[in-house]
Amino acid sequence: MQNGHADAVYDGFASSQLFNQGVCYTYDDVIFHPGHIFFAANEVDLTSNVTKNIPLRVPIVSSPMDTVTEAEMAITMATLGGMGFIHYNNTAEEQLRQVLKAKRHTPGFIVTPAVAGPNDTVSKLYELKNTRGFTSVCVTDTGALGGKLLGVVTTRDIDFINDKLTPLAEVMTTDLVTAPEGTTADAAGALLKKIKKNKLPLVNAQGELVGLATRGAFKDARNFPAPGAPSLDGAGLLRCGAAVGTRDSDRERVKMLWETAAVDAVILDSSQGDSTYQVEMIKYIKAAHPGLDVIAGNVVTGAQARRLIEAGADGLRVGMGSGSICTTQEVCAVGRGQATAVYHVARVANALGVPIIADGGVQNSGHITKALALGASAVMCGSMFAGTTEAPGEYFMLNGQRVKKYRGMGSLEAMAKGSETRYHSDTQSLKIAQGVSGAVKDKGSIRKTVPFLAQAVRQGFQDIGANSIKMAREMLYNGAMRMEARTNAAQAEGNVHDMVAYEKRPW
Ligand code: 5GP
Repeated sequence: MQNGHADAVYDGFASSQLFNQGVCYTYDDVIFHPGHIFFAANEVDLTSNVTKNIPLRVPIVSSPMDTVTEAEMAITMATLGGMGFIHYNNTAEEQLRQVLKAKRHTPGFIVTPAVAGPNDTVSKLYELKNTRGFTSVCVTDTGALGGKLLGVVTTRDIDFINDKLTPLAEVMTTDLVTAPEGTTADAAGALLKKIKKNKLPLVNAQGELVGLATRGAFKDARNFPAPGAPSLDGAGLLRCGAAVGTRDSDRERVKMLWETAAVDAVILDSSQGDSTYQVEMIKYIKAAHPGLDVIAGNVVTGAQARRLIEAGADGLRVGMGSGSICTTQEVCAVGRGQATAVYHVARVANALGVPIIADGGVQNSGHITKALALGASAVMCGSMFAGTTEAPGEYFMLNGQRVKKYRGMGSLEAMAKGSETRYHSDTQSLKIAQGVSGAVKDKGSIRKTVPFLAQAVRQGFQDIGANSIKMAREMLYNGAMRMEARTNAAQAEGNVHDMVAYEKRPW
């Protein structure tokens, strides 16, 4: 027996040996041995379940943080085959609005069309142009999406209007070509080409504006890889999850999200999920809304995992102190290296048929490959997606760099807005931060990031010699997947070194 494998030609360690030595490892500490390649990278099947009942083609999800996931992020994640979880640092009504927006969106259409009311003035279009680059605005009776469509105003309509206080009703074009609700993106694109217009509003039977297709968006899509099949629920709507707490008021929140928006899954959001609060909340949700999947956590040990699974959890979120904005290990002296946490929780949860989400600490595609190869069924990212076009918030300049805000939900700033329940701090008079707030640089659109990440992970699986997550799982537990810990010098060697200058572009 050579390190868990009968054949002495196999060196390195089986996972069961590497992760049982009294040391915890981060992703960077661990490296896999290459396996035998018998398939092309494109053939690697990454399909995996994020909960017992929700499969994803791309097992990457965005974190329920108020600087990461609102409707636009959730829509784009699901459009790309992953999924987003809307944060709950807001009122139940606002969170419901975000989930409804995501679930009702048709891929290929504009996520947030500019809409104004008939009494808004010409200055509104100038403002939209300056702040968001829009050159037209739909006019509805309510001034919002869902109102009756009255007309469209483009900058061409106002070029010669000197009085910026002129109401839009006086300058809008009312002779419009529209398409009915339910029109596919392909059909809308073909129609736009045919009618040689820039905008195609979508209206329902009542004449209310429900969406917008634009020529610009179709042209823009050519700058990104093909998104592939989206993540859809049984009714053909985009998948979207949401985070909630475990207070009594959260029961009402869950009810609204489930009954009004058919949210796909709720995450019980806590940095330490092994609590009676979660056990009771899981049991309550599974009894009150049996069709709704519950993701519990966060946990980092098998014992924590088993307790939540026995309570009825359909998925678990794994990670404590590994997040880029997180200070839990420093402040509370509790947590675990993320690679070890993923391995041990997955070992217990997979045996009980419950998928786990490796949450936090992902800085590159290699970390995603490691998480999935060590037993995770999906990976959750915060910082990877913060600072992207789809993340909430506006860009601003900081020290000459274009940045967006990114903050921990346990930072004092986020807790002041209500997120303290995640850290069991809502009942405490002295609030202790377990996270920081700051900014990350402009990372462009996840429409590029996610497909490239997925392709890089496929290449990692090819090198390991696993053509699917299912096969990787078998190799992980039968000892065929060989691995080792890396010394600091080995890690330095594994990074770029001895260069006077270089540019590191991942894709
Ligand atoms: P990242 O992808 O940025 O490394 O980590 C994101 C994850 O960190 C989130 O999904 C969440 O689990 C965790 N997280 C978010 N905010 C905080 C915080 O303020 N403190 C701690 N301890 N963890 C956080």
